[in-house]
Amino acid sequence: MNLQLCLTLLATTAISISTIVVDAKTYATIPNHSCLRSMDGMMESMTDLASAHPNLVTITDIGDSWLKNNVGRHDGVHEIPDGGYDIYALNITAGDSARLSNDKGKMLITSGVHAREWAPPELLARFIEQLVNGYNSDADITSILQHTEVHAILYVNPDGRFVSEKYPELYWRKNMHPIRCGGGMEYGVDINRNSDFMFAKDGGSSNHPCDDDYHGPSPESEPESQTLMNYARNLFPESQRKSDPANQLDVPLGEEIMGMYIDIHASGGYVYYPWGHEDSRSPDDDALQALGRKMNYFNGYKLWAGDQPDFLYAASGDISDYMYGALGVASLGFEIGSDFQQNCNEFEDEVVPINLPALLYAAKNVAKPFSTIKGPDVLDLSVRHVNGDVRVSAHASDGKMVNKIATDSTDFQEHVTGGQGISEVRIFLDVHPDDATDSDISYEMEALDGLDSSEETVGIVLRASTLSVGRHTLFLQATDSDGYKGPVSSVYVDITDIEARTRHGKTALRGGRSTRRNNTSERGGSTRRNRTSERGRTKSP
Ligand SMILES: [Zn+2]
Repeated sequence: MNLQLCLTLLATTAISISTIVVDAKTYATIPNHSCLRSMDGMMESMTDLASAHPNLVTITDIGDSWLKNNVGRHDGVHEIPDGGYDIYALNITAGDSARLSNDKGKMLITSGVHAREWAPPELLARFIEQLVNGYNSDADITSILQHTEVHAILYVNPDGRFVSEKYPELYWRKNMHPIRCGGGMEYGVDINRNSDFMFAKDGGSSNHPCDDDYHGPSPESEPESQTLMNYARNLFPESQRKSDPANQLDVPLGEEIMGMYIDIHASGGYVYYPWGHEDSRSPDDDALQALGRKMNYFNGYKLWAGDQPDFLYAASGDISDYMYGALGVASLGFEIGSDFQQNCNEFEDEVVPINLPALLYAAKNVAKPFSTIKGPDVLDLSVRHVNGDVRVSAHASDGKMVNKIATDSTDFQEHVTGGQGISEVRIFLDVHPDDATDSDISYEMEALDGLDSSEETVGIVLRASTLSVGRHTLFLQATDSDGYKGPVSSVYVDITDIEARTRHGKTALRGGRSTRRNNTSERGGSTRRNRTSERGRTKSP
């Protein structure tokens, strides 16, 4: 069952107190923003989610806010909880999610770095709920959670969030560290300028405590930054970090790295990726730009990245550049919606529908992001059951997603990763390609006129009688002529008793025979398979 979010508005004459109902339980929302859970309502709902799905969701207290680290030092003006806040991380994955596995891809998504940006935690929560509710009902989501740990920190800066919700008119952005400028109340450190990479670099942040982008007294001076970065450093493999990041700006990470970081902010409709500290391309721009472009395919957002036409301004010491530059993972951020205090119509009708699929797609690429993002995508995957046949068809595309931005805007050309021919589309029966061994079954899908371009419609007919009764999962993966395997798309096939007993007369020749994979040539990635040797075991629908 998909989660249905019902919005209930409990209106009074003076102020509207709104709530969100999730699984028949009511959670508090921000006044006049009935689509956005308040921080209290959000944490209550996430605690309930973890209780209801202990095998999928774990919540961990990973650190303390500035106020919790400095009890009694609040500003004496705002009604701030004296004890401050814990900072929590959720880990969403199938199986024993309390324990980090060594072989799952790791994804970290954050929101609430900037307190006044109200919509990002709600979007992230919707994504978490989509994952949890899709497990065992959506093949793609199930596959993702079986192969990926999705870590989420909804409120990196909970002190600031409290103030922003309590005093909306302040548009509070930073944390609550009371480093004053004169007698003013515009204090606090910008957690998105406080990272230990390109810290305080000229023009990318401010050294004036009253400014919105004040970087703080020193790199990672703030407990919110330390908490986030310690968590990330523990999560992502140390082996892929550079020894001297600031002096290795031109050294690419290569295509073997694991892990992805996404920071969700508001607003303006941007996808950003490194570099952010300067208007120039990173050494892994071919992969990062492919990732940014493929996000644009879903949300249509402009690309705010070095050497792109919509680069707005430099940000130094920002989290995104740190994750890529210092921790060696794929890194990007979103600027969602049109307002800090996002209106609900646009949030529900636009922000959520365009960004949930983007996040889901990103999650498919976490294990080897700089490699799979260059590979072809499997689009329009469909399964039809016809007289005992299971007809699977799909569109394998090397360019459609990565080049949508080039179709929409003359500022962009066809991307370097998007024009290779499709060399193979392979369908795996009940085993994810990353887990497949020699004895597992897979089939090569065929195009009507052979595989000869970067856009191919492919199909296969499986005989239901060769499959056992019940649910099967089909995993599809396309490879391009440069040897890049794209992200895996999956679909369920439910075989009924009647289908399984359907006898084929002359149609018995139509496909369905299995082969053992040749593991050596499969793993090599660049070996083009000789389709003429496949003995016609597949057929297009
Ligand atoms: Zn922000």
